[in-house]
Amino acid sequence: MDALKISNMQKSFGDLEVLKGVSLAVSPGEVLAVLGPSGSGKSTLLRCATFLDQMDSGEVSYFGEVALAKENGVKTSKGDEKRFRHDFGLVFQNFNLFPHWTVMRNLIDAPVKVQKRDASEVREEAQGLLARMNLADKGESYPSELSGGQKQRVAIARALALHPKMLFFDEPTSALDPELTGEILAIIRSLAEEKMTMVIVTHEMEFAAGVADRAVFMDGGRVLEEGPADELIHHPTQERTKQFLNKLR
Ligand code: ADP
Ligand code: MG
Repeated sequence: MDALKISNMQKSFGDLEVLKGVSLAVSPGEVLAVLGPSGSGKSTLLRCATFLDQMDSGEVSYFGEVALAKENGVKTSKGDEKRFRHDFGLVFQNFNLFPHWTVMRNLIDAPVKVQKRDASEVREEAQGLLARMNLADKGESYPSELSGGQKQRVAIARALALHPKMLFFDEPTSALDPELTGEILAIIRSLAEEKMTMVIVTHEMEFAAGVADRAVFMDGGRVLEEGPADELIHHPTQERTKQFLNKLR
């Protein structure tokens, strides 16, 4: 059974065809790197897979269950895909913390209010997550009082507080100063060691080669190449993949 399976996902914005039939699968415990130039559709793929955007056609399954199937804009699956929202956590480039809430409230609000878990247990666990992120003393701070790297660590803690079965990262270090990138990558690496299932959009190629099990290279709304991450990054077979990787070197 796949943790995530995407079949033939298509998405247009007006006349612009952004995803032209993307299929991929992620096994439980696997880390998939999604690589590709800006504008190739990586964020749209993640947003449609997590129901933040509406795909036009395709099928998305989580842990063997169809969460959403659509054909030409019409939903063909039964049920409510939002039910699957707590199967996965999301960490984006720009943190998306609630600015008027303390760090602690950012972490515990959804587990308590949406998941109806015990408030004191949630708080205790959140404190442990903050400690893991080296932010033990920041629970009562507001996001504006934190550096970019600290905000991103809060965003990861917030995602973990919901006990997701898998995590999506969309360029988690792109908004950070280079010296803060390493600490975020180290956290993601430690999650990989714990066998957290992850889909990571990143331009950090050496990181991806080391941490990801598999990689897909996207261009123009399609997956052009797929393979073991280390292999794809260091020995790409497609001309377009080689071009892209050479530009980053
Ligand atoms: P990537 O994450 O690989 O850089 P995106 O998925 O963000 O690519 O974008 C793919 C293409 O879709 C780009 O041409 C982008 O301008 C376009 N696009 C993304 N989101 C929207 C939107 N909400 N409305 C219109 N066009 C969009
Ligand atoms: Mg993007």
